[in-house]
Amino acid sequence: MVEALERPSADDRVERGAHRLPAPPSALRGRVVVAAVALGAFAAAAAGQTLKGGAATTDGDVTPLANAQDASAALGVGGDSRGATIAPEILTVAQVSDAGEEARKLTQSAQLIANRTAKIQKEAAEAAEKARVKYVRPAEGAFTSGFGARWGTTHFGIDIANRIGTPIRAVTDGVVIEAGPASGFGLWVRIQHADGTISVYGHMDTIGVREGAKVKAGDQIARMGNRGQSTGPHLHFEIWDANGRKMNPASWCAQKGIRL
Ligand SMILES: [Zn+2]
Repeated sequence: MVEALERPSADDRVERGAHRLPAPPSALRGRVVVAAVALGAFAAAAAGQTLKGGAATTDGDVTPLANAQDASAALGVGGDSRGATIAPEILTVAQVSDAGEEARKLTQSAQLIANRTAKIQKEAAEAAEKARVKYVRPAEGAFTSGFGARWGTTHFGIDIANRIGTPIRAVTDGVVIEAGPASGFGLWVRIQHADGTISVYGHMDTIGVREGAKVKAGDQIARMGNRGQSTGPHLHFEIWDANGRKMNPASWCAQKGIRL
């Protein structure tokens, strides 16, 4: 610029003219600058528009549809006559089919879960049954009398003494075949077991089971008392074998693992 402002000599002007374009008049230069600025502004504006457009699409605020047919297709209605009649039917059939399949899968899953739950419950029940105590002592208390000859007669059971009301329990699983008054026993309960053996409980104060009741080992069947031919609150306990013969209950208990 500094050079352009210098006033060149005549010789210089010739030589320069041959090799260099003359500097454009300042007015023209100004217009070029204005044009360039304007172009730049257009370019910037265009870029801005593109950016804006891109941003809008990325945001997903507006997803403009190309035309009305696209709109009708997206909504499943309208459009041309074929689209209007066919498209909704296809959609309906597809939805029903999907729902049916989904329902079938859910039913199948529910069935699998139910089966698995039933299996787990069965196994748990079997484990509990296996772990369950099958033989228990008929009452807590003091062993006061054994089986055999006593006072010039035969004592056909064993006696366990404790206070009145002490729980009396079924020694093992069985069915109550008799529950009520009995000569000499005051009240008695007789329970028959799977092998035909019968356990007999006497002198009770109260009875908590009825004839026909199924009991499990340890179930409370009565409360200790002093009824019948008894000299104090105690349980008289007998074991009859399958033929009705009275066995030594102490031996039977020992055999079954019941500690008296
Ligand atoms: Zn007795």
